Amino acid sequence: MCALLTLAIPLAVAQAYPARSITLVVPFPAGGPTDSLARQLAVAMQPSLDGVPIVVENTAGAGGTLGAAKVARATPDGYTLLIWHVGMAASGSLYPKLAFSPLQDFEYLGLINDVPMALLGTSRLPAANYGEMLDHIRRHRGRLHLAHAGLGSASHLCGLMWMSAAGLKEKLSPVPYRGTGPAMSDLIGGQVDVMCDQTTNASEQIRAQRIKAFAVTTERPLLDLEIFSGFPTLDQVGLNGFNLTIWHGLYAPGGTPSEIRQKVNDALRQALKDPIFQASQAALGAKVVQDHRLSPEGHKAFVAQETEKFRLAIEATGTFSD
Ligand code: ASP
Repeated sequence: MCALLTLAIPLAVAQAYPARSITLVVPFPAGGPTDSLARQLAVAMQPSLDGVPIVVENTAGAGGTLGAAKVARATPDGYTLLIWHVGMAASGSLYPKLAFSPLQDFEYLGLINDVPMALLGTSRLPAANYGEMLDHIRRHRGRLHLAHAGLGSASHLCGLMWMSAAGLKEKLSPVPYRGTGPAMSDLIGGQVDVMCDQTTNASEQIRAQRIKAFAVTTERPLLDLEIFSGFPTLDQVGLNGFNLTIWHGLYAPGGTPSEIRQKVNDALRQALKDPIFQASQAALGAKVVQDHRLSPEGHKAFVAQETEKFRLAIEATGTFSD
């Protein structure tokens, strides 16, 4: 099928790329971490794509799989691209009837960033540290709510792995949102109690004391990032070996011609070297990718490894249905 689609895009069209604006599909709502990354990236990539606008389109729902399905079906002419994250690796293990194959129906264009996550609570939660938060959750067995952005989202995977490792699976009630932009508003408002979210979505809210943080999910503490430097890792609070860092990548529909893929990959590489883009990512705890995963092959090999990692984790923990 890919070969036929490739033939459908004449060489002259591929060589003239980009001749008009490019749509970048974000499979989560506006205001969340993937959306804000996409908007920053669009600005940083634009100069290397002859200045054509990169227009962000939010197609949210089902943990990002609706937006991904839309891009998998789009004309492979480089004018519809997808930004997605760990969902690319986890969705195959969570959705029995996925409308696309994550490893076969896309062209992998390059990995963008690595993002730590943090365990967060509403500011009304009467807990000053991780241990007190656990006690509070246990005392309120099943009555407190964990927000997440849908099956296979980063917040879902983190929540799942944490609840399973900490023995909390029956003790928190999951509440699905379309993204952690809206979920964060409810965490701030106290409609939900806890959430595991990307540092990029949480740091400003912690700084403004609108929410609390209790721990980070990385292997080592986040000492470089002042706002998170005082929080322990989940490993340090007793969840031996807990280590979760998520990532985002850039994708095109399968069959997108190689001339176009090369131009987008070049623009991505330029964007990731941009000091303004690098600094804005670093300020939120994320690191731009500067290794072999920036190449399409390295990106795909990495996602294949991650797919196996999440398959095993999901097999070991089971999931929650909400
Ligand atoms: N990336 C999602 C968003 O932007 C959140 C998640 O995956 O947890 O809303």
